[in-house]
Amino acid sequence: MRATVMHGAGDVRIENVPDARPIEPTDALVVVSRGCICGSDLWPYKTMEHSDTGRRMGHEAIGVVEAIGADVRTMKAGDVVVMPFAYSDGTCVFCREGLHTSCIHGGFFGAGDGDGAQAEAVRVPQADGTLVVLPVGADDVLTPSLLTLSDVMGTGHHAAVAAEVGPGKAVAVVGDGAVGLCGVIAARRLGAEQIIILGRHPERIALAREFGATDVVSERGDEAVERVRELTDGLGVHSVLECVGLEQSMLTAIGITRAGGAVGRVGVPQDETMPASQPAFYSNITVGGGPAPVRAYIEELLPDILDGRIEPGRVFDRAVRLDEVPDGYRAMNDREAIKVMVEP
Ligand SMILES: [Zn+2]
Repeated sequence: MRATVMHGAGDVRIENVPDARPIEPTDALVVVSRGCICGSDLWPYKTMEHSDTGRRMGHEAIGVVEAIGADVRTMKAGDVVVMPFAYSDGTCVFCREGLHTSCIHGGFFGAGDGDGAQAEAVRVPQADGTLVVLPVGADDVLTPSLLTLSDVMGTGHHAAVAAEVGPGKAVAVVGDGAVGLCGVIAARRLGAEQIIILGRHPERIALAREFGATDVVSERGDEAVERVRELTDGLGVHSVLECVGLEQSMLTAIGITRAGGAVGRVGVPQDETMPASQPAFYSNITVGGGPAPVRAYIEELLPDILDGRIEPGRVFDRAVRLDEVPDGYRAMNDREAIKVMVEP
């Protein structure tokens, strides 16, 4: 089968690899109907050291179950399923607490020796705990929005939960990528009264407004902090969704959080140390978040997508065939595209 393999910074190839197949009795084989390129795929795209063997890429997909292992109970061949970016057994102590990304028997797609989802098919470990069967066909009009349950919608929601978003609160979203835009949807869904998006790309800002952003701050650094404070009676916001992961974005996030507020961070931190640790301390600011347990949120978010109350699939502004995935990486890296869908 064909799959995406990254061999180094800027070096993404479509290669023939051994066919995916169930190995463990708890595995399922899923034929990918739609995959995606993720903002987090751009970090290795910018920095990865050359590797002859390369790294399989992709961790988001909707697909059709082709085969199941002997112990799989909750799905059958032909079912349409959505795949969270991490696999998990659904039964261990962390899964029962809703923290599936810390599953004792879990792991991440597109990492280590496992399959990636920017491919024709993917082996899914712990299929019963990982996959959710969807009540739609593989080519449903809702597919783009359902596909965001793999990662970006669940990740934006996790940022909002970690930032303690709730009714009547003032919220800011740092980052106008797909996760930040889904964070706007999540903040409105959880009842935020004011939602400030920090970003400057006109098309992304327009989409953020349609998703529920009430204010836009296009300044950067200290000017952005000043502007957000102006919009919040000088106090700052209760909740900040930090969806970037750079030192500057965390400095801004802490700078705009009001005393006693919370930052929910879902951008993978690119630094070892936490920026702005002292201001966060003196203002009693909570910094939470991490890899989103998106599996925990699918049952909660799915009805809103099926009923059309939220449309996170609008973050996809480009679709490519599997053979065109290298150009999809380039387009996202050049910020020509917000998020790229892959149609094998
Ligand atoms: Zn588990």
